[in-house]
Amino acid sequence: MNRKIILPSILAIVLLVAIIAAEQLLDGKTETKAYEQTVIAMDTVMTVKAYGENAEAGINLAIQEIMRLEKLLSTTMEESEIYKINHADGEPVKISEETARLIKEAIEISRLTDGALDITVYPIVLSWGFTGSEFRVPGDGEIKESLRLVDYKGIRIDGDSVTLNKGQMIDLGAIAKGYAADRVRDKLKEAGVDSALINLGGNILTMGDKPGNDSWSVGIKDPFSQDKLAGSVEIGEKAVVTSGNYERFFEQDGKRYWHIIDPKTGYPADNGVASVTIIADSSVYADALSTALFVMGPEEALRAYNNLGNFEYILITSAGETITSGNIEFVTK
Ligand code: AMP
Ligand code: MG
Repeated sequence: MNRKIILPSILAIVLLVAIIAAEQLLDGKTETKAYEQTVIAMDTVMTVKAYGENAEAGINLAIQEIMRLEKLLSTTMEESEIYKINHADGEPVKISEETARLIKEAIEISRLTDGALDITVYPIVLSWGFTGSEFRVPGDGEIKESLRLVDYKGIRIDGDSVTLNKGQMIDLGAIAKGYAADRVRDKLKEAGVDSALINLGGNILTMGDKPGNDSWSVGIKDPFSQDKLAGSVEIGEKAVVTSGNYERFFEQDGKRYWHIIDPKTGYPADNGVASVTIIADSSVYADALSTALFVMGPEEALRAYNNLGNFEYILITSAGETITSGNIEFVTK
């Protein structure tokens, strides 16, 4: 068997960068004070850069917030609320109002996307080994067995407790980074920061104006060539979130398998999308939709765009075609 595991580039970065790097900067062009910090959290590299007098205080709050959310929402840390929910064997579990709200938001997006986003897909994600790095192709029987557990309608939230059907497990991996970015923005605001660039593993959220009054320019990766950009978008204060088949994957017998699962089949979603980028005001909304539109494919994605509103998108098809929604300027060189 020709089994070739390609570690995601993010892991390579993790090995190279220091676990925590903090830097006091002076923006060359504008002489504005800036402060930047990088941490490894939620299995990815997160960098927050803030401008102005309150930058350092803001970043300290922001990093604490990221660590708090990782502990709350991780599937693998035993102290997390998600871990407790997943190991309750069909019994109700008391959770914080915050976690309950986030799960409700995920369920709402599942409803709006006809289950393309479904946080109960976790047993399948585990079968494929995407939670760690022990990737494997599960047998059809195993997938069929796990698929019986995948149904967001089985999640019941009653006040401060949540109950899953026996055997069900949830994973907020499709929305947690987006949610964290929104909360980081809140913390920076609280500290009096009004200009920042938040990058949580490629989930970008900009805040305020960029010093020097330029607009923020966010690069969109070329899904077919790791170190190239497909283009960039010029934005004001926005979230820019991408789901791509190049982010976490392995190859076996010449076939590529990636981490975004179609909850209807239990296999990596292969509906004609290589990557989809969502641009919206809310980062958690953008994150949820990036995963959902990836699963849906180009036609359903357009339907979702027309029905749901409050976002724009750039979709690169598996054939290399770029589709952009009406109200964005996607600059390619
Ligand atoms: P993202 O990179 O935001 O698209 O999220 C992908 C992550 O969400 C995966 O690593 C899984 O943990 C989880 N996931 C995969 N497929 C789905 C799905 N269809 N609905 C919800 N979560 C998913
Ligand atoms: Mg997502």
